[in-house]
Amino acid sequence: MLHFKILSIFPKYFASPFMDGLLKQAIGKGNLKIDITDIRDFAHDKHRTVDDTPYGGGAGMVMKPEPIVSAIRYARADDKEYKVIVFSPKGKRFDQHAAKRFSQSRKFVLVCGRYEGIDDRVPAFYADEELSIGDYVLSGGEAAALVFIESVSRLVPGFVGNEESIVSESYEKGLLEYPQYTKPRTFEGHEVPPVLLSGNHKEVEKWRMEQSVRLTADKRPDLLEKAKQDRDILRIIETIEKTN
Ligand code: SAM
Repeated sequence: MLHFKILSIFPKYFASPFMDGLLKQAIGKGNLKIDITDIRDFAHDKHRTVDDTPYGGGAGMVMKPEPIVSAIRYARADDKEYKVIVFSPKGKRFDQHAAKRFSQSRKFVLVCGRYEGIDDRVPAFYADEELSIGDYVLSGGEAAALVFIESVSRLVPGFVGNEESIVSESYEKGLLEYPQYTKPRTFEGHEVPPVLLSGNHKEVEKWRMEQSVRLTADKRPDLLEKAKQDRDILRIIETIEKTN
């Protein structure tokens, strides 16, 4: 079973995300457990204070270490296997490669920051990893925790009903996924590519691979450079370049 313990000062944020789709199904089947803890419950004063002014001056408030570290200790009290992840724009970039690595583990404590962020002693001394979900700044780590949960859990065997859909997904081979279409065959004059209607599986596979490469070259040339390390992909790229 996958277990995520989320620490946040806005527990109500998570009222609905686990009530639909694959996450709901996984919870229903007992494959996934989510616990949400209010960091304020671990505040050390009667006002339930979780933030304070930054040393050295500057704008905004910083989340104090004491309530967060107490909440982490509580979450790991019975089991030290829980990996502690702190979300921050200053963290290491979380991508599909990292999601795969984390999908080898089953127990996580996810720490969501707010305000100007968390006192840096928390990620430095009390977390296993500090992660950023992208090069932009969110108001809080709650959305990042959801991104982490959704992307890691779908890589755990048995979580997504159709395992094949994962194998062909974007990033799996270091490329973006090929274009996908469904009925109707013609929509407002736009036709589905004829090869997909041919019934020729080999031709469909070939077309999809080429499309993956073309799409990646167009939208994410940085990914294509890495993907070229795979000999099969390199051969396809060279063939495409010759025919252009
Ligand atoms: N002052 C911080 C900085 O410039 O690095 C930004 C703090 S942000 C407004 C508040 C919280 O949102 C952070 O503590 C973190 O938990 C979360 N957050 C914001 N952007 C994020 C990102 N790209 N990835 C992960 N968490 C993020």
